[in-house]
Amino acid sequence: MNASFADMLRKASESPKALSVPELARLLAAEDEGERRALHAAAYAVKVRHVGRRVSVRGLVEAGNVCAKDCLYCGLRRSNAAVARYSLAADEILHVAEVAKARGYASLVIQSGEVESDVHTRFVEDVLRRIAPLDLGVTLSLGEQTEDVFRRWKDAGASRYLLRIETSDPAYYAKLHPAGHDWKRRVACLETLKRLGYQLGTGVMCALPGQTPEMLARDIAFFGEIDADMLGMGPYIPHPDAPLGVAPEAPDDAARLRLGLDLIAVARLHLHDVNIAAATSLQALAPDGRERGLLAGANVLMPNLTDVQWRAGYQLYPGKPNLDESAEDATAALERSVASVGESILWNARGDSPHFRRTMR
Ligand code: SAM
Ligand code: SF4
Repeated sequence: MNASFADMLRKASESPKALSVPELARLLAAEDEGERRALHAAAYAVKVRHVGRRVSVRGLVEAGNVCAKDCLYCGLRRSNAAVARYSLAADEILHVAEVAKARGYASLVIQSGEVESDVHTRFVEDVLRRIAPLDLGVTLSLGEQTEDVFRRWKDAGASRYLLRIETSDPAYYAKLHPAGHDWKRRVACLETLKRLGYQLGTGVMCALPGQTPEMLARDIAFFGEIDADMLGMGPYIPHPDAPLGVAPEAPDDAARLRLGLDLIAVARLHLHDVNIAAATSLQALAPDGRERGLLAGANVLMPNLTDVQWRAGYQLYPGKPNLDESAEDATAALERSVASVGESILWNARGDSPHFRRTMR
């Protein structure tokens, strides 16, 4: 490891937002295993300083795969006729919330394709009001919506919203999405969510065709500028029925995983006190992917508690792990995986973002 790499790690560890975009890009282009080990160790130390060796968990419910969008990378895109579409009933979502609560999850993530309609808005409102007595921290990840809808869902009980920007580069966004998908609207949604007082989650995929370390470095700087409280980031995994495909020089699974871990580490070093989830796509690339995510600086896991009969319908990418794992098995597997890296799970705690708690004071 050369001296300037070590210097950058030291500077980034001391205070947040200490590095320039070129410096972040240099960290993301770690040249050998020695540099990568040092990068992960520095990020891990920053994480431990802020949240300890404790993992926050959220039960994930994949509420439906109906989507109005046509993102070029995603298996759920509306043009993919091979997908059997489903939408969970309110009772089914409530049931997952009750199972989550009974197993010690104090937070729930409700995710689905993007639907904008009055009926859908009212449906989500109703679900949130029925979940409210369980006293869970609820994250929504339901795509772009109007300010009025975000406000109604917040009033009904949601406290966090996850909307990945996908890329901070508008021209690159246009390459990943067809016409009618508007980067500016996505940014405006993030700003609105922040203003409304949600804990704001965003993120990007990595290992996309044509993406460079400089672009990812700008993405990390963007997370700071938008004042994100939570990050969800993971490697892109090509879907055979989605047109984005792979570039000829595409990284193999090991390289995708490496980049996903490095991205977590550099984001932790830049932002220090945000919650960072170890994305499921890390686990799709290696059985121990999410544990390695924790060691690179992530502090949140989101095991899937959706009833197994629906899991196959929610495949953003092939090779999705745990297609037939029950909520009980998921919870036991989680305990084991977290213990295997010397950490423990914060059961019955919401695990709010420390950044949010600090900046909302
Ligand atoms: N529809 C909502 C949205 O797009 O914000 C929430 C659900 S969407 C499936 C959640 C995330 O999955 C997206 O933000 C995207 O980054 C990720 N994703 C989609 N296709 C993927 C792929 N092929 N590989 C890895 N992640 C993918
Ligand atoms: Fe729909 Fe989200 Fe997939 Fe885009 S990423 S097609 S919005 S589910």
